Amino acid sequence: MKKLSILGSTGSIGTQTLEIVRTNKDLEICALAAGSNVSLLEAQIREFHPDMACLFDEAAAADLRVRVADLPVKVLSGMEGLMSCAAHEPADIVVGAIVGMVGIRPVMAAIEAGKTLALANKETLVTAGHLIIPLAKEHNVPILPVDSEHSAIFQVLQGNRMNKVSRILLTASGGPFRGLTRVQTADKKPKDALKHPNWSMGRKITIDSATMVNKGLEVMEAKWLFGVDYDDIEVVVQPKSIIHSMVEFEDGAVLAQLGTPDMKLPIAYALYYPERKPLPGPRLDFKTMGQIQIASPDNEAFPALPLAYRAGKTGGTMPTVYNAANEWAVAAFLAGKIGFNDITDIIAACMDRHAVIESPSLDTILEAERELRASLTKDRG
Ligand code: NAD
Ligand code: MG
Repeated sequence: MKKLSILGSTGSIGTQTLEIVRTNKDLEICALAAGSNVSLLEAQIREFHPDMACLFDEAAAADLRVRVADLPVKVLSGMEGLMSCAAHEPADIVVGAIVGMVGIRPVMAAIEAGKTLALANKETLVTAGHLIIPLAKEHNVPILPVDSEHSAIFQVLQGNRMNKVSRILLTASGGPFRGLTRVQTADKKPKDALKHPNWSMGRKITIDSATMVNKGLEVMEAKWLFGVDYDDIEVVVQPKSIIHSMVEFEDGAVLAQLGTPDMKLPIAYALYYPERKPLPGPRLDFKTMGQIQIASPDNEAFPALPLAYRAGKTGGTMPTVYNAANEWAVAAFLAGKIGFNDITDIIAACMDRHAVIESPSLDTILEAERELRASLTKDRG
Protein backbone atom coordinates (compact mmCIF):
# COMPACT_ATOMS: atom_id res chain seq x y z
CA MET A 1 0.00 0.00 0.00
CA LYS A 2 1.37 3.44 -0.99
CA LYS A 3 0.06 6.50 0.80
CA LEU A 4 -0.18 9.76 -1.13
CA SER A 5 -0.37 13.39 -0.17
CA ILE A 6 -1.62 15.48 -3.11
CA LEU A 7 -0.83 19.18 -3.17
CA GLY A 8 -3.18 20.77 -5.71
CA SER A 9 -5.76 17.98 -5.55
CA THR A 10 -8.58 20.02 -7.13
CA GLY A 11 -6.69 20.88 -10.33
CA SER A 12 -6.19 19.08 -13.62
CA ILE A 13 -3.21 16.98 -12.44
CA GLY A 14 -4.69 16.54 -8.95
CA THR A 15 -8.02 15.18 -10.18
CA GLN A 16 -6.32 12.88 -12.71
CA THR A 17 -4.11 11.54 -9.91
CA LEU A 18 -7.27 10.81 -7.90
CA GLU A 19 -8.75 9.00 -10.93
CA ILE A 20 -5.75 6.67 -10.79
CA VAL A 21 -6.16 6.21 -7.02
CA ARG A 22 -9.86 5.44 -7.53
CA THR A 23 -9.06 2.46 -9.77
CA ASN A 24 -6.01 1.12 -7.91
CA LYS A 25 -6.59 -0.49 -4.54
CA ASP A 26 -2.89 -0.33 -3.63
CA LEU A 27 -2.97 3.50 -3.47
CA GLU A 28 -4.42 5.41 -0.53
CA ILE A 29 -4.81 9.12 0.22
CA CYS A 30 -3.55 10.54 3.52
CA ALA A 31 -3.56 14.29 2.74
CA LEU A 32 -5.19 16.61 0.20
CA ALA A 33 -4.43 20.30 -0.28
CA ALA A 34 -5.68 22.99 -2.65
CA GLY A 35 -6.20 26.74 -3.02
CA SER A 36 -9.83 27.66 -2.39
CA ASN A 37 -12.26 25.16 -4.01
CA VAL A 38 -14.32 24.17 -0.93
CA SER A 39 -16.97 22.08 -2.69
CA LEU A 40 -14.57 19.92 -4.66
CA LEU A 41 -12.20 19.38 -1.74
CA GLU A 42 -15.17 18.42 0.46
CA ALA A 43 -16.28 15.85 -2.14
CA GLN A 44 -12.70 14.51 -2.39
CA ILE A 45 -12.44 14.20 1.42
CA ARG A 46 -15.72 12.26 1.53
CA GLU A 47 -14.55 9.89 -1.19
CA PHE A 48 -10.87 9.38 -0.29
CA HIS A 49 -10.85 9.84 3.54
CA PRO A 50 -7.55 11.69 4.10
CA ASP A 51 -6.75 12.40 7.75
CA MET A 52 -5.37 15.84 6.84
CA ALA A 53 -6.60 18.49 4.40
CA CYS A 54 -5.72 22.09 3.67
CA LEU A 55 -7.10 25.06 1.78
CA PHE A 56 -4.61 27.89 1.36
CA ASP A 57 -7.40 30.44 1.62
CA GLU A 58 -8.26 30.99 5.31
CA ALA A 59 -11.95 31.77 4.81
CA ALA A 60 -12.43 28.78 2.51
CA ALA A 61 -10.68 26.54 5.05
CA ALA A 62 -13.00 27.79 7.81
CA ASP A 63 -16.01 26.96 5.61
CA LEU A 64 -14.57 23.50 4.85
CA ARG A 65 -13.97 22.82 8.56
CA VAL A 66 -17.68 23.30 9.23
CA ARG A 67 -18.74 21.21 6.25
CA VAL A 68 -16.63 18.16 7.21
CA ALA A 69 -17.14 18.43 10.96
CA ASP A 70 -18.71 14.93 10.89
CA LEU A 71 -15.43 13.37 9.63
CA PRO A 72 -12.13 12.59 11.43
CA VAL A 73 -10.11 14.94 9.21
CA LYS A 74 -7.88 17.77 10.39
CA VAL A 75 -8.45 20.87 8.22
CA LEU A 76 -5.53 23.32 8.00
CA SER A 77 -4.96 26.57 6.10
CA GLY A 78 -2.30 28.87 4.70
CA MET A 79 1.34 28.11 3.89
CA GLU A 80 1.80 26.31 7.22
CA GLY A 81 -1.08 24.00 6.32
CA LEU A 82 0.35 23.24 2.88
CA MET A 83 3.72 22.45 4.42
CA SER A 84 2.11 20.17 7.01
CA CYS A 85 0.32 18.23 4.24
CA ALA A 86 3.64 18.01 2.35
CA ALA A 87 5.44 16.59 5.38
CA HIS A 88 2.51 14.51 6.67
CA GLU A 89 4.08 11.54 8.46
CA PRO A 90 2.17 8.64 6.79
CA ALA A 91 2.80 9.86 3.20
CA ASP A 92 5.16 7.79 1.05
CA ILE A 93 4.75 9.98 -2.03
CA VAL A 94 3.92 13.66 -2.30
CA VAL A 95 2.36 14.75 -5.60
CA GLY A 96 3.38 18.35 -6.29
CA ALA A 97 0.51 19.62 -8.45
CA ILE A 98 0.04 23.18 -7.22
CA VAL A 99 0.36 25.77 -9.97
CA GLY A 100 2.97 28.50 -9.57
CA MET A 101 5.81 29.54 -7.30
CA VAL A 102 3.56 29.22 -4.24
CA GLY A 103 4.50 25.53 -4.46
CA ILE A 104 8.19 26.07 -3.65
CA ARG A 105 8.02 25.90 0.14
CA PRO A 106 5.65 22.88 0.26
CA VAL A 107 7.90 21.02 -2.21
CA MET A 108 10.96 21.76 -0.08
CA ALA A 109 9.07 20.69 3.06
CA ALA A 110 8.23 17.35 1.40
CA ILE A 111 11.90 16.78 0.52
CA GLU A 112 13.07 17.71 4.02
CA ALA A 113 10.59 15.17 5.40
CA GLY A 114 12.16 12.51 3.13
CA LYS A 115 9.15 12.03 0.83
CA THR A 116 9.42 10.73 -2.71
CA LEU A 117 8.28 13.59 -4.89
CA ALA A 118 6.12 13.18 -8.01
CA LEU A 119 6.54 16.68 -9.40
CA ALA A 120 4.26 18.46 -11.88
CA ASN A 121 4.71 21.96 -10.41
CA LYS A 122 7.42 23.11 -12.87
CA GLU A 123 7.52 26.72 -11.63
CA THR A 124 9.24 25.48 -8.45
CA LEU A 125 12.19 23.96 -10.32
CA VAL A 126 12.45 26.91 -12.71
CA THR A 127 12.81 29.42 -9.89
CA ALA A 128 14.42 27.35 -7.13
CA GLY A 129 16.01 24.37 -8.92
CA HIS A 130 19.45 25.35 -7.56
CA LEU A 131 18.06 24.85 -4.03
CA ILE A 132 15.63 21.96 -4.63
CA ILE A 133 17.97 19.59 -6.52
CA PRO A 134 20.81 19.73 -3.94
CA LEU A 135 18.24 19.45 -1.12
CA ALA A 136 16.81 16.28 -2.72
CA LYS A 137 20.35 14.84 -3.03
CA GLU A 138 21.10 15.69 0.59
CA HIS A 139 17.94 13.93 1.79
CA ASN A 140 18.30 11.11 -0.75
CA VAL A 141 14.83 11.83 -2.11
CA PRO A 142 13.92 10.94 -5.69
CA ILE A 143 12.19 13.59 -7.81
CA LEU A 144 10.03 11.78 -10.35
CA PRO A 145 8.88 14.02 -13.20
CA VAL A 146 5.16 14.19 -13.99
CA ASP A 147 5.40 16.71 -16.84
CA SER A 148 4.87 14.54 -19.95
CA GLU A 149 8.05 15.58 -21.76
CA HIS A 150 10.24 15.09 -18.71
CA SER A 151 8.57 11.79 -17.92
CA ALA A 152 9.33 10.75 -21.51
CA ILE A 153 13.01 11.68 -21.09
CA PHE A 154 13.12 9.93 -17.71
CA GLN A 155 11.58 6.78 -19.23
CA VAL A 156 14.04 6.84 -22.13
CA LEU A 157 16.99 7.19 -19.74
CA GLN A 158 16.12 4.00 -17.84
CA GLY A 159 18.94 1.53 -18.43
CA ASN A 160 21.10 4.21 -20.06
CA ARG A 161 23.85 6.34 -18.64
CA MET A 162 23.22 10.06 -18.29
CA ASN A 163 26.87 10.80 -19.11
CA LYS A 164 26.37 9.25 -22.57
CA VAL A 165 23.62 11.73 -23.48
CA SER A 166 24.57 14.26 -26.14
CA ARG A 167 21.26 16.13 -26.56
CA ILE A 168 17.76 16.31 -25.18
CA LEU A 169 15.09 16.90 -27.81
CA LEU A 170 12.13 18.43 -26.02
CA THR A 171 8.95 18.28 -28.06
CA ALA A 172 6.38 21.09 -28.21
CA SER A 173 2.96 21.04 -29.83
CA GLY A 174 3.24 24.72 -30.75
CA GLY A 175 -0.14 25.36 -29.10
CA PRO A 176 -3.33 26.76 -30.68
CA PHE A 177 -1.55 29.63 -32.48
CA ARG A 178 1.17 27.59 -34.22
CA GLY A 179 1.77 28.97 -37.72
CA LEU A 180 0.50 32.49 -36.90
CA THR A 181 2.68 35.60 -36.98
CA ARG A 182 3.07 38.00 -34.06
CA VAL A 183 0.76 40.43 -35.85
CA GLN A 184 -1.88 37.69 -36.09
CA THR A 185 -1.64 36.71 -32.40
CA ALA A 186 -1.97 40.35 -31.22
CA ASP A 187 -5.77 40.36 -30.93
CA LYS A 188 -6.19 36.81 -29.57
CA LYS A 189 -8.52 36.58 -26.58
CA PRO A 190 -8.44 34.23 -23.57
CA LYS A 191 -11.17 32.05 -25.13
CA ASP A 192 -8.95 31.51 -28.22
CA ALA A 193 -5.82 30.83 -26.18
CA LEU A 194 -7.66 28.39 -23.88
CA LYS A 195 -8.35 26.02 -26.81
CA HIS A 196 -5.33 23.69 -26.71
CA PRO A 197 -5.27 21.33 -29.71
CA ASN A 198 -4.17 18.17 -27.81
CA TRP A 199 -4.26 18.51 -24.02
CA SER A 200 -6.94 19.46 -21.51
CA MET A 201 -5.10 21.23 -18.66
CA GLY A 202 -5.42 24.01 -16.08
CA ARG A 203 -5.95 27.55 -17.38
CA LYS A 204 -2.50 28.92 -16.57
CA ILE A 205 -0.52 26.17 -18.31
CA THR A 206 -2.91 26.33 -21.29
CA ILE A 207 -2.11 30.03 -21.77
CA ASP A 208 1.59 29.19 -21.26
CA SER A 209 1.28 26.66 -24.10
CA ALA A 210 -0.19 29.31 -26.40
CA THR A 211 2.68 31.76 -25.71
CA MET A 212 5.34 28.99 -25.66
CA VAL A 213 6.27 30.11 -22.13
CA ASN A 214 5.38 26.55 -21.12
CA LYS A 215 8.16 25.21 -23.33
CA GLY A 216 10.51 27.87 -21.96
CA LEU A 217 9.72 26.74 -18.41
CA GLU A 218 10.19 23.12 -19.49
CA VAL A 219 13.67 23.85 -20.92
CA MET A 220 14.68 25.17 -17.48
CA GLU A 221 12.89 22.27 -15.77
CA ALA A 222 14.86 19.79 -17.95
CA LYS A 223 18.13 21.51 -17.08
CA TRP A 224 17.51 20.93 -13.37
CA LEU A 225 16.00 17.45 -13.59
CA PHE A 226 18.63 15.98 -15.89
CA GLY A 227 21.65 18.21 -15.19
CA VAL A 228 22.23 19.11 -18.86
CA ASP A 229 23.62 22.33 -20.35
CA TYR A 230 21.17 24.67 -22.05
CA ASP A 231 23.10 24.26 -25.33
CA ASP A 232 22.27 20.54 -25.20
CA ILE A 233 18.49 21.06 -24.94
CA GLU A 234 16.76 21.57 -28.27
CA VAL A 235 13.04 22.21 -28.73
CA VAL A 236 11.34 20.55 -31.71
CA VAL A 237 7.74 21.20 -32.68
CA GLN A 238 5.62 18.06 -33.11
CA PRO A 239 2.06 19.33 -33.49
CA LYS A 240 0.09 16.21 -32.53
CA SER A 241 2.01 15.51 -29.25
CA ILE A 242 2.62 11.87 -30.21
CA ILE A 243 6.36 11.98 -29.56
CA HIS A 244 6.58 13.12 -25.94
CA SER A 245 10.34 13.84 -26.15
CA MET A 246 13.59 12.25 -27.31
CA VAL A 247 17.17 11.78 -26.17
CA GLU A 248 20.19 11.61 -28.47
CA PHE A 249 23.13 9.57 -27.18
CA GLU A 250 26.85 9.94 -27.96
CA ASP A 251 26.72 7.25 -30.64
CA GLY A 252 23.96 9.08 -32.52
CA ALA A 253 21.13 6.80 -31.34
CA VAL A 254 17.91 8.72 -30.69
CA LEU A 255 15.40 7.13 -28.29
CA ALA A 256 11.88 8.49 -27.95
CA GLN A 257 8.79 7.81 -25.86
CA LEU A 258 5.54 7.92 -27.82
CA GLY A 259 1.92 7.65 -26.82
CA THR A 260 -1.50 9.24 -26.98
CA PRO A 261 -1.76 12.56 -25.10
CA ASP A 262 -2.93 11.35 -21.67
CA MET A 263 -1.39 12.76 -18.48
CA LYS A 264 -2.47 9.67 -16.56
CA LEU A 265 0.48 7.79 -18.09
CA PRO A 266 3.22 10.08 -16.70
CA ILE A 267 1.32 10.41 -13.40
CA ALA A 268 0.99 6.62 -12.99
CA TYR A 269 4.61 6.09 -14.10
CA ALA A 270 5.76 8.41 -11.28
CA LEU A 271 3.44 6.78 -8.70
CA TYR A 272 4.56 3.23 -9.52
CA TYR A 273 8.16 3.83 -10.61
CA PRO A 274 10.11 1.67 -11.37
CA GLU A 275 7.10 -0.56 -12.20
CA ARG A 276 4.60 0.03 -15.01
CA LYS A 277 0.90 -0.46 -14.36
CA PRO A 278 -1.77 -1.36 -16.91
CA LEU A 279 -3.57 1.81 -17.97
CA PRO A 280 -6.77 1.64 -20.02
CA GLY A 281 -7.35 4.15 -22.81
CA PRO A 282 -6.76 4.66 -26.53
CA ARG A 283 -3.55 3.32 -28.09
CA LEU A 284 -1.51 4.73 -30.96
CA ASP A 285 -2.57 3.23 -34.28
CA PHE A 286 0.44 3.38 -36.59
CA LYS A 287 -1.61 2.13 -39.56
CA THR A 288 -3.89 5.18 -39.56
CA MET A 289 -1.56 7.75 -38.03
CA GLY A 290 -0.04 9.03 -41.27
CA GLN A 291 2.94 11.37 -41.05
CA ILE A 292 4.50 12.52 -37.83
CA GLN A 293 5.20 16.16 -38.59
CA ILE A 294 8.30 17.83 -37.10
CA ALA A 295 9.26 21.52 -37.37
CA SER A 296 11.48 24.11 -35.73
CA PRO A 297 9.96 26.57 -33.26
CA ASP A 298 9.15 30.04 -34.63
CA ASN A 299 11.17 32.25 -32.28
CA GLU A 300 10.03 35.48 -33.92
CA ALA A 301 6.32 34.87 -33.50
CA PHE A 302 6.88 33.29 -30.06
CA PRO A 303 9.78 35.11 -28.32
CA ALA A 304 9.05 33.38 -24.98
CA LEU A 305 11.34 30.49 -25.89
CA PRO A 306 14.52 32.50 -26.64
CA LEU A 307 13.74 34.63 -23.55
CA ALA A 308 13.66 31.45 -21.45
CA TYR A 309 17.09 30.35 -22.73
CA ARG A 310 18.38 33.83 -21.87
CA ALA A 311 16.84 33.66 -18.38
CA GLY A 312 18.16 30.15 -17.77
CA LYS A 313 21.69 30.88 -18.99
CA THR A 314 21.82 34.10 -16.96
CA GLY A 315 20.66 32.18 -13.89
CA GLY A 316 20.45 33.68 -10.38
CA THR A 317 17.17 35.52 -9.93
CA MET A 318 16.54 35.88 -13.72
CA PRO A 319 14.44 32.67 -14.04
CA THR A 320 12.34 33.95 -11.10
CA VAL A 321 11.77 37.20 -12.98
CA TYR A 322 10.83 35.31 -16.17
CA ASN A 323 8.40 33.12 -14.24
CA ALA A 324 6.93 35.73 -11.88
CA ALA A 325 6.39 38.25 -14.69
CA ASN A 326 4.62 35.51 -16.63
CA GLU A 327 2.44 34.46 -13.65
CA TRP A 328 1.38 38.10 -13.21
CA ALA A 329 0.82 38.64 -16.96
CA VAL A 330 -1.19 35.43 -17.49
CA ALA A 331 -3.56 36.42 -14.66
CA ALA A 332 -3.90 39.91 -16.18
CA PHE A 333 -4.55 38.45 -19.65
CA LEU A 334 -7.19 36.06 -18.28
CA ALA A 335 -8.81 39.02 -16.49
CA GLY A 336 -9.01 40.89 -19.81
CA LYS A 337 -6.58 43.61 -18.67
CA ILE A 338 -3.79 43.08 -21.21
CA GLY A 339 -3.44 41.67 -24.72
CA PHE A 340 -1.92 38.33 -25.71
CA ASN A 341 1.40 39.71 -26.99
CA ASP A 342 1.72 41.87 -23.86
CA ILE A 343 2.48 38.67 -21.89
CA THR A 344 5.85 38.16 -23.59
CA ASP A 345 6.50 41.92 -23.87
CA ILE A 346 6.09 42.23 -20.09
CA ILE A 347 8.44 39.29 -19.45
CA ALA A 348 11.07 40.84 -21.76
CA ALA A 349 10.74 44.31 -20.17
CA CYS A 350 11.02 42.90 -16.63
CA MET A 351 14.11 40.88 -17.59
CA ASP A 352 15.72 43.91 -19.27
CA ARG A 353 15.50 46.05 -16.16
CA HIS A 354 16.32 43.35 -13.60
CA ALA A 355 19.64 43.50 -11.72
CA VAL A 356 20.48 39.81 -11.26
CA ILE A 357 21.32 38.42 -7.82
CA GLU A 358 23.54 35.32 -8.07
CA SER A 359 22.82 32.09 -6.12
CA PRO A 360 19.69 33.50 -4.46
CA SER A 361 18.41 32.06 -1.19
CA LEU A 362 14.75 31.06 -0.90
CA ASP A 363 13.99 34.37 0.82
CA THR A 364 15.72 36.29 -1.98
CA ILE A 365 13.67 34.44 -4.61
CA LEU A 366 10.40 35.08 -2.82
CA GLU A 367 11.35 38.72 -2.25
CA ALA A 368 12.23 39.16 -5.96
CA GLU A 369 8.82 37.74 -6.84
CA ARG A 370 7.03 40.00 -4.36
CA GLU A 371 8.83 43.12 -5.60
CA LEU A 372 8.16 42.29 -9.23
CA ARG A 373 4.46 41.71 -8.64
CA ALA A 374 4.18 44.95 -6.66
CA SER A 375 5.90 46.99 -9.37
CA LEU A 376 3.80 45.45 -12.18
CA THR A 377 0.60 46.06 -10.25
CA LYS A 378 1.67 49.69 -9.53
CA ASP A 379 2.61 50.39 -13.16
CA ARG A 380 -0.22 48.55 -14.88
CA GLY A 381 -3.01 48.18 -12.34
P1 NAD B 1 -4.85 23.70 -12.23
O1 NAD B 1 -5.03 25.17 -12.29
O2 NAD B 1 -5.84 22.82 -12.89
O3 NAD B 1 -4.75 23.25 -10.69
C1 NAD B 1 -3.91 23.92 -9.79
C2 NAD B 1 -4.07 23.38 -8.40
O4 NAD B 1 -3.26 24.20 -7.54
C3 NAD B 1 -5.51 23.44 -7.87
O5 NAD B 1 -5.76 22.34 -7.05
C4 NAD B 1 -5.49 24.70 -7.03
O6 NAD B 1 -6.43 24.71 -5.99
C5 NAD B 1 -4.09 24.64 -6.47
N1 NAD B 1 -3.63 25.96 -6.03
C6 NAD B 1 -3.60 27.12 -6.70
N2 NAD B 1 -3.15 28.11 -5.89
C7 NAD B 1 -2.90 27.54 -4.70
C8 NAD B 1 -2.41 28.03 -3.46
N3 NAD B 1 -2.13 29.34 -3.27
N4 NAD B 1 -2.27 27.15 -2.46
C9 NAD B 1 -2.58 25.85 -2.62
N5 NAD B 1 -3.04 25.32 -3.76
C10 NAD B 1 -3.18 26.17 -4.79
O7 NAD B 1 -3.38 23.42 -12.77
P2 NAD B 1 -2.81 22.08 -13.44
O8 NAD B 1 -3.04 22.14 -14.90
O9 NAD B 1 -3.25 20.88 -12.68
O10 NAD B 1 -1.25 22.29 -13.23
C11 NAD B 1 -0.61 22.09 -11.98
C12 NAD B 1 0.90 22.11 -12.20
O11 NAD B 1 1.25 21.02 -13.03
C13 NAD B 1 1.39 23.37 -12.93
O12 NAD B 1 2.65 23.73 -12.44
C14 NAD B 1 1.50 22.92 -14.37
O13 NAD B 1 2.47 23.65 -15.10
C15 NAD B 1 1.92 21.47 -14.19
N6 NAD B 1 1.56 20.58 -15.33
C16 NAD B 1 0.26 20.39 -15.65
C17 NAD B 1 -0.09 19.57 -16.72
C18 NAD B 1 -1.52 19.31 -17.08
O14 NAD B 1 -1.78 18.50 -17.97
N7 NAD B 1 -2.48 19.92 -16.46
C19 NAD B 1 0.93 18.95 -17.46
C20 NAD B 1 2.25 19.17 -17.10
C21 NAD B 1 2.55 19.98 -16.02
MG1 MG C 1 4.69 19.43 -20.58
